[in-house]
Order: sequence, then structure tokens, then C-alpha cells
Amino acid sequence: KHVAELIAAGEVVERPASVIKELVENSIDAGAKHITVEIKNGGTTFMRVADDGCGIFRDDIKVAFLRHATSKVKVESDLDSISTLGFRGEALASICAVSRLQLITRNVNEEIGTSYEIDGGEEQSFDDAGCPVGTTFVIRDLFYNIPARAKFLKKDVSEGNAVSNIIDKTALSHPEIAFTYIKDGKQVLRTFGDGKLISTIYSVFGKDFANGLIPVEYQLGAIRVCGYISKPEHSRPNRNMQNFFINGRYIKTRTAMVALEEAFKGSIMVGKFPSCVLNIELPCEIIDVNVHPSKLEVRFINERPVFDAIYHAVKSSLMKYDS
Ligand code: ADP
Ligand code: MG
Repeated sequence: KHVAELIAAGEVVERPASVIKELVENSIDAGAKHITVEIKNGGTTFMRVADDGCGIFRDDIKVAFLRHATSKVKVESDLDSISTLGFRGEALASICAVSRLQLITRNVNEEIGTSYEIDGGEEQSFDDAGCPVGTTFVIRDLFYNIPARAKFLKKDVSEGNAVSNIIDKTALSHPEIAFTYIKDGKQVLRTFGDGKLISTIYSVFGKDFANGLIPVEYQLGAIRVCGYISKPEHSRPNRNMQNFFINGRYIKTRTAMVALEEAFKGSIMVGKFPSCVLNIELPCEIIDVNVHPSKLEVRFINERPVFDAIYHAVKSSLMKYDS
């Protein structure tokens, strides 16, 4: 395989978690209501993503694996291009270059499905397959053909945790989709896709966390803040449970973190931190896209209105809880 091709692939596919992220985003784009993710050995030897989305037409399958192939003609918002890491239409081309890949898919309008196998970018087979409508990807032996790259993978536990993290955040940002997640043969997460954020939080973070939350629903100008914050007595010794989503995408944002903690000042002890699952809906124009996308970090062109909206949203929920 051409070296340039492998290098390009290596930029999109960093580790199992980046493969899972791309495949799950494709499933979401395909309108899936149920998504099952299975990994073994941290994803390094085995990953499966199965969905009940629209499926891929047989005639479109090979095209989907070409670099810069995308069927997605929607107008991209700035934030969308951040979250896809600016690699539009490169995920499948890259993943198949550095793994053994099997695709089984059937489009809603087709009677028979198709199975397609590619090893290290080389086509192995293309056959009829009996299967339900939807798409399943199986990825085996990531980086088997680039040993130099395989060496940089962390221990299976760390790679597996990175995958789990992606699944958690994705499930939280899509309460309308039912996720099943299986790790080394054991089901470790199941969300129900009932559209309710709180029941997704129950599934992802457990009952104790979910029971310690206060709802938030607030609008300031064009900015809407909703979700949940922790009750002051449920504060924690670290920030690990501060989850912010902007327009439905998990993001790290200092502005939001500071606004949250300012609003909690006086309610919790110094050295303790509030938790949250907060969605911030705002116009894309006020997001700075010049921050490196892989950091999942954004800055705001004008921070003040974002800070104010989050601060007041949290403050008013805390006051309602107090009284
Ligand atoms: P992109 O998502 O940027 O279009 P990808 O390389 O991730 O590029 O995917 C290429 C194409 O393959 C998509 O545009 C889509 O048409 C098709 N595709 C990939 N995964 C799925 C899926 N799970 N269900 C339906 N179509 C899919
Ligand atoms: Mg994609």
C-alpha cells in the first residue's frame, strides 16, 4: 500500500476510539434508532458497529470507500465541521486502509443485502448477504499493516476506556437513540432511546448520580441552556462529571466551566466542584472555529453572552432548589 495513503489514513484514524466515533456518527447520520457497539481488547482486535439506519445501496458501497466520497450534501455549520475534525468523506477510506474491514448492509429499498470485505485497502470479496435493513461494520486488527503505528496504541484498558468515553458522550447527546455497548462479551451500557435526557443519564452515570440532579431550563436572548446540574450537597472533589454539549456536540469549554462554578460560589465548599450535563444551544456565528478540532475545544468570539446565559441558568435553578 502506498506510504502517502497510509500516512493520510493515520491522521484520521488515531486509535480505536476515533474509528468508533466516525462509525457511530455515520450511523446517526443514517437515521439509526438503535446502535450497537461491540469491542474486544480495547477495540484493537475487534470493533463492531451495527445500526438500523437507511443502509447503503449496493451500487454506492465501493464509492463510499473512496477518499473524499461523501453522500452528505447538507449545508455544514461551522460546528459540524469541527466535530467531524474537518475530514469530510475520509473516514471509511482511512479505516479500511489500516484494518481488516467487513461491511454488511442493506438499503431500505433493496431486497437483498451486500457483504463487502477489504483488508488493508485491498478488496477481498463482494457478495449477496441476507440481513436486515441497516449497516454493520466489523473492524479487525487495527494497524495490523503498520506495526510502527500499532506500537503507539496504549494498553487495551486505556483504549477501551477511550471508546467507552466516546459512547457515553454520544449517548448523552442523543437521548432519542437507543445505544447498546458490549465490551469483551459483557453488556456495559444500554440506553433506551426514549428521548429523555434524564433516563439516558440514569443509564450512563447510574442512579446515585441521576438522583442528585436539579433540572435547568433557561433562555437568554439567542442562547438556550438546559439539562441538569448537581445538587450542592452532591458536589465532588474533581471536575470529571462536568459535561457540556454545544448544539448537541460534546465539547470542552472553559467559559462554561467558569460560569458554572461562579454560579455555585457560596453554595458549595471551596475545593469541591459541581457536576452537570448541560446543553447549550447557540447560533454558530459566535463560535470560533480556529481552535484545533481534535481538542474538542471551542472558544467564543464573544464570551460574555455565553457566560451570562450559563451563569444565570445555573443560578436560577439553584435558587428554585433552595426555596
Ligand atoms: P462522510 O460521513 O463524511 O460522508 P464517511 O467516509 O464517513 O464520509 O462515509 C462515506 C459515506 O458512506 C457516507 O457519506 C454515507 O453515504 C455512507 N455511510 C457510511 N456509514 C454509513 C451507515 N452506517 N449507514 C448508511 N450510510 C453510511
Ligand atoms: Mg463520516
